[in-house]
Amino acid sequence: MRFPLCRLLCLLLMTWSVQAAEMADEVAQESAVPALNMNQIGHAYVRLVLALGEHDPDTVDAYYGPAAVRDEVKRAALAPAQIEAEAQALLLQVDGADSPQSQTQPELLSQRREYLKKQLAALVARAQIVQGEKFSFDDEARALYDTAAPHYVEADFAPVLARIEKLLPRQAGDAQRTLAERYNRYIERYAVPAAKLQAVMTLAINEARARAAKHLPLPTGERFELSLVKDKAWSAYNWYQGGLSSRIEVNIDLPIPVSRVIELASHEGYPGHHVYNTLLENGLVIGQQWPEYTVYALFSPQSLIAEGTADYGVGLAFPGKERLAFTKELFTAAGLNTKDAARNLEIVNAARELVPAGIEAARRYLDGKATAADTALWMQRFLLYSPERAAQRLKFIDKYRAYIINYSWGEELVRNYIRANGNDVAGSAEQWQQFFQLISQPRTPAMLVAADETDVVIVGADINDLADFEDFIATQPTLDAFASRYPDVLLVRPGMITTREFRSDRSRFFPDLDSQGLIIGGRFN
Ligand SMILES: [Zn+2]
Repeated sequence: MRFPLCRLLCLLLMTWSVQAAEMADEVAQESAVPALNMNQIGHAYVRLVLALGEHDPDTVDAYYGPAAVRDEVKRAALAPAQIEAEAQALLLQVDGADSPQSQTQPELLSQRREYLKKQLAALVARAQIVQGEKFSFDDEARALYDTAAPHYVEADFAPVLARIEKLLPRQAGDAQRTLAERYNRYIERYAVPAAKLQAVMTLAINEARARAAKHLPLPTGERFELSLVKDKAWSAYNWYQGGLSSRIEVNIDLPIPVSRVIELASHEGYPGHHVYNTLLENGLVIGQQWPEYTVYALFSPQSLIAEGTADYGVGLAFPGKERLAFTKELFTAAGLNTKDAARNLEIVNAARELVPAGIEAARRYLDGKATAADTALWMQRFLLYSPERAAQRLKFIDKYRAYIINYSWGEELVRNYIRANGNDVAGSAEQWQQFFQLISQPRTPAMLVAADETDVVIVGADINDLADFEDFIATQPTLDAFASRYPDVLLVRPGMITTREFRSDRSRFFPDLDSQGLIIGGRFN
């Protein structure tokens, strides 16, 4: 069949002009939509988070805005694809949006803008996940939490495991037990008896509150209620209720070691999640009238700040010897022998250094490199979990996925930030001051990292700055130094098995090592 030339050209022209007209229409429609101001964007953001929560209940960690808004969202019944598109469109408006609060400090306003952009970008990604899109572990972490955690190898944990091995008291039959078995037998001896748990927890939360109140302006009327629950994927949870109140739930499926009590009290309560939420409600929702903080989107960069500060807050509220002194009080309240408290604390503090292994376990499992059974065994070996705790943790990973980076990696980012901007003295006034700013103002993980780059520990240097990269390689760094400077780059260590695709970016590095294992060169691929 033969098309006359003119006919073909005319057809092409017609198609082009129809497209051009459609585009012009779209532009006209866009400009007909009045530009939103920051508060309107905040309201729209809240509605979209609630809308996604209708499909994915874990998305909404807390909401304490008007119930009518939630009812309206239920009636509108937006599909995840619509939520994704609307969040994307809203994101594009943030930079140009006016702020109705002319009296607010410019710095706070620019933080607010950054915060909203990152929260909206994460909402887009979560809506994609809800629609079935799959990301690698690191890509999911970057998309939802604005940062990817370093990669760890088994050798990273060997020195701590050896230390714990030495610290554990000797028992008959130890030769037949794995280190995890020995560790768990030891820890179980220091579990808080069920009948005393409520009283011991309350004692710890009250102490943590008194300590936080010395350094932070806790809003008048803030309060919490504590309940013991069962059959959950997590070990404790703070459900923020709004009106300056929290419901703190502690899961008693597994025995609670006395050493966990201070951690739970600080993390869930003071100066952790409860304080974080009350300061944001008091300062930003009531004080600034910013609607976006009436909702807490769980799978968002806000969670890295929340979990990172909550974990960091344990050592802030109970620094050094003060922790031991109060641990002894808890031993007494739990009916345990205070003579054992010092060694107990030393052992659990060492075990805490293993927590990043949980990130590696989740990454391998979710990226399909290890089965559930292998992951459970790996966690017993490198996190010293009991089989029951490993099973609980796998449930957590299945449900919350890359969320796990927010704990130890979030804490490390917070620690580096506070060290760089305050000081390195645990529990000092400067540390509390920096901490207060982090938990009472809009913050994003990228803000922690940017401020951190001047510090000794460099996190996430730019791999595309080749001059800087060459200078760094010229120092003949260790593999670990490379991994912590370039956490986003897959460092192929000796003996590591990697995929064979060709990479044109600099996301993977094969190092050349000298006889001492120092990097003396290498190639990207
Ligand atoms: Zn938490």
